[in-house]
Amino acid sequence: MADQKLLFDMDGTITDGRYLSVEDRELHDYYALPTYDDITRDVWNKLQDQYDCYIVTARSMPRARQGVEEWLEKEFMDWPAGIIVGIEPHVRPYLYHDLQASALFDDNPAVPLDPWGNFYLMNNPYWEANQKVEASLKIHNWKEIGDLLLK
Ligand SMILES: [Mg+2]
Repeated sequence: MADQKLLFDMDGTITDGRYLSVEDRELHDYYALPTYDDITRDVWNKLQDQYDCYIVTARSMPRARQGVEEWLEKEFMDWPAGIIVGIEPHVRPYLYHDLQASALFDDNPAVPLDPWGNFYLMNNPYWEANQKVEASLKIHNWKEIGDLLLK
C-alpha cells in the first residue's frame, strides 16, 4: 500500500508565522524565516520516512519553488515527496481530495472547514484572525504533530 499523504502549508506552519509585509515578501525575506519551533526539523525528517509529505504554498514569485528548496537545505530538512507552489488557501481542500491525502496542516483560518477532511489549524500567535478561530482540530506546536503522526 502506498504511503499516506500529508499536506503542509509552508508559512506559519513549517516556518514561524511572523507577518511579512507585502514589500518584505522577497525570496531573501522568506529564506531568513526560522522554523516553527525547536523540534520542527526533527519531527519533519522523521515524517519523511513514514509518509509522503507535500508542501503546499501560496508563494508564487519567480523561483518560489527553489526558494522553498533552498530554505529546506538551510535548515537541514529532508526532501518531501512534493513542493507545490501557487496554491491559494481556498483551493487546498480540492487538492487534498484530489491527492487523497490523510491530513492537511495550515495556519490560515480561511481554509474551509470540511467535515470529510482532517484539516488541522496550526496555531499562529502572530495572526489575529487565526487566534479568533476555534477549530476542533487545532495544533499548537510540532511536538503535537509528532505525537499525532509518528509511529
Ligand atoms: Mg500559512
